[in-house]
Amino acid sequence: MDSDRTEAAAYFASRLLDWYDRNKRDLPWRRDRDPYRIWVSEVMLQQTRVDTVIPYYERFMRRFPTIRHLAEAPEEEVLKLWEGLGYYSRARNLQAGARQVVERHGGVVPDDKKALSALKGIGPYTAGAILSIAFGKPEPAVDGNVMRVLSRYFLLTDDVAKPSARARIERLAASIIPEGRAGEFNQAVMELGALVCTPQSPGCLLCPVLERCAGRAAGRERELPVKSKAKPPRPEARMAVIVEGRGRHAGKVLVRRRPDSGLLARMWELPHVLAPEAAADGYAASPRAGAFDALSRGLAEEAGLLVRPVHLWAKAEHVFSHIRWQVEVYLAEFGFFLDAGSASTGAAGSEAAVAAEAGAPCAGGPDRAPDGDEPPEGWLWIGPEDMASLAFPNVFLRLLNDYFAKRA
Ligand code: SF4
Repeated sequence: MDSDRTEAAAYFASRLLDWYDRNKRDLPWRRDRDPYRIWVSEVMLQQTRVDTVIPYYERFMRRFPTIRHLAEAPEEEVLKLWEGLGYYSRARNLQAGARQVVERHGGVVPDDKKALSALKGIGPYTAGAILSIAFGKPEPAVDGNVMRVLSRYFLLTDDVAKPSARARIERLAASIIPEGRAGEFNQAVMELGALVCTPQSPGCLLCPVLERCAGRAAGRERELPVKSKAKPPRPEARMAVIVEGRGRHAGKVLVRRRPDSGLLARMWELPHVLAPEAAADGYAASPRAGAFDALSRGLAEEAGLLVRPVHLWAKAEHVFSHIRWQVEVYLAEFGFFLDAGSASTGAAGSEAAVAAEAGAPCAGGPDRAPDGDEPPEGWLWIGPEDMASLAFPNVFLRLLNDYFAKRA
């Protein structure tokens, strides 16, 4: 670092720490230096605002006060407590990491960078945050806030979406950590980014490092950091069904559990299929042409479930980092579960389509198994009372809560 930059860095660290000492928010994870608590908070805070995280964090800590409690909990319960925070792989990885800490380190979070970084779900940012905040080690913790603040203060014009720029900022951040105050310094930079040097409207006039901020001096603070745009999520139209039970399942609806791996693994959902011409048209007219047929056929072929859609009930959206589900939700009458053989041949699909087109009632006939309404493994008939124990992605949680509220 040249001498100007060294001076600017020293000024930055000292002014910032003074400011942080006077202005830091009282957040629940700042009340002690327990590495497990810091780990949980940092994972929850990824992609999520502080005020949203606080109640989740407090509930999570009440239920899983130590890493052993988390490691030993059923995954379903962890997902349920995470419900609404989104990005559920974070919760699964956190629990997998906790189990590794118990197995490999006797339940003690390691203070060694290599061992910590080898744990599931711990990337450079989380490792840096735990090492600096819990153990006082001089490791940088560079997230979006930190990249923005440092890009502006030092007038860095590299594209922060590129790994090379991130690596450069990490080196810079490491070089300016003041001795003995790594944890406070990292939190102070994040706090400045969250409260003052915000993305759209940096509050430069209130900023403790205004005097030496190169980005502000050049009038470029709003242009920085340079960040190439990520591709927007691809829209995908899907059709879901609220299948209403009858007889002993009256008042209940059918849900299924997602596969063990991939998107939203092992969470519960309403049955759904890709809509016809999904890529081209997103949401369709109400209802989309051929919807009933496509739904009946798709569910029969993919899931061995015969239903008769009755009408379009709602539309909803769920955004992942790479896909945007646009979901049309249909109410449907339950028919029966087909046996696996007929479902896989596609014969069931034709039968379902005929039933849907003809508007025929979808009850099982005399040639159907008497237990045709008994759900196979991975499916359940649920009522409102079950919403407290099963974990759903936000979109299905909202839809089911709406449905049960309207029926009450
Ligand atoms: S002076 Fe403005 S741009 Fe510079 S660090 Fe402070 S808030 Fe950010």
